[in-house]
Amino acid sequence: MEEKVTVDGLTFVPYLRQEEISRQVKRVAEELRNDLKDSAPHFICVLNGAFIFASDLIREIGINDSTISFVRYKSYQGLTSTGSVKQLIGMTEDIDGKDVVIIEDIVDTGLTAVQMIDDLKKRNPNSIRFATLLHKPESSKTGFQPDYVAFQIPPKFIIGYGLDLDGKGRNLKDIYVVAE
Ligand code: 5GP
Repeated sequence: MEEKVTVDGLTFVPYLRQEEISRQVKRVAEELRNDLKDSAPHFICVLNGAFIFASDLIREIGINDSTISFVRYKSYQGLTSTGSVKQLIGMTEDIDGKDVVIIEDIVDTGLTAVQMIDDLKKRNPNSIRFATLLHKPESSKTGFQPDYVAFQIPPKFIIGYGLDLDGKGRNLKDIYVVAE
């Protein structure tokens, strides 16, 4: 059994095990598959943190006509949100008339999500859905509600399964929470 880990001098303890993550990813995939039947959706994976969730999720959804592209937004420095969201890598794909599904690792203040949806609406998609691995509703500064959530969690700092502390810890199979 994997126990506590230290990253950049901080101790983290296991919070969500890979078996539980896998169960919830399958549940979200099924919800999306049902909602997207008869559609050829375009997935947008938000880098860097969502790359592992997106990879598991789109394979579980299993729609062969789906497409995927990647955007990158950044609002965190170390353990806290900077409060300002910057787009670092934009999208070049044509999403006109498409059913778009944004795949995010975590919704915290909701600022990234709101800006991203605003940016995407200008490109005239048919619909926009938002799927997130983790949601911290108590941290919301926007009232933003994701459409699909694998886990609701308290406002604590998380790493693993794609999520990092200053670039490290993304490789961990389980999700860890910073120790009290
Ligand atoms: P928001 O714009 O909703 O405040 O923040 C979303 C982004 O903040 C996420 O995509 C993620 O990069 C980062 N973030 C928020 N909470 C956490 C956390 O607990 N752990 C990690 N590693 N990143 C987080």
